[in-house]
Amino acid sequence: MRKTVDVPVSEVIPSVESVLRGQGVTDSGLDDPYLGELAETALKMFARLCRPAALTMDLERADFEIVYRGHGRNADETPVELIYPNAKHMALYAVTIGSRVGERVTELFDMNEFALGAMLDMAASEATELLARAVEDQYRQELRSSKRIRNSSGVMRFSPGYCGWDLSGQGLLFERLGPEEIGIELRETFLMTPLKSTSGVMIAGHKDIFEFECSYSFCNDCTTFSCRDRLKELRQQ
Ligand code: SF4
Repeated sequence: MRKTVDVPVSEVIPSVESVLRGQGVTDSGLDDPYLGELAETALKMFARLCRPAALTMDLERADFEIVYRGHGRNADETPVELIYPNAKHMALYAVTIGSRVGERVTELFDMNEFALGAMLDMAASEATELLARAVEDQYRQELRSSKRIRNSSGVMRFSPGYCGWDLSGQGLLFERLGPEEIGIELRETFLMTPLKSTSGVMIAGHKDIFEFECSYSFCNDCTTFSCRDRLKELRQQ
């Protein structure tokens, strides 16, 4: 099934702390009144301009295989190709917070309001992640409430451009999912417009199938090791 998913703005507004930490502010700087006020102003602006939209589509394993293979540019070995053959369910997804926040960031930079512009940009990045997480939560709850997965199973997201899935994979993903319906366009570079959008696959299955080591060739260039945090969250789902 292909469907749009409603997520209220209130669910994607990040905390002041996450915006500050995203800007590299350390513990000692979190109580700085100037920074706090700047982040509050950015978040109020963000709440007025944010227009969350999301789209998901269930996919059979064989169909995902075609999407994932893409144009054959993925790394030789990847976590996704080990995980999805054991998945119970999977769905493509795309989310965006809309174009107005990004337009405002550009305006602020043009007006030399760099600090506020950077805070708003960071709020937008955090919110995009919160939106994707909210869509993943809804997907997992739907699968559980319809008894298609048990509590021993969880859901994990993967996106083109990460963990060995070549960014060009966006091409077939967009052909299949059609995120243009919610206002996301794919550029020739395979980046999305609005920039604060994300897309990929949600894979559902027994939590054991997601266990993997960061020993792939591309892990040497990874700066976030975000899979470790996501695996921790998965175990708590
Ligand atoms: S270490 Fe980085 S690149 Fe490697 S699997 Fe984890 S998130 Fe992906």
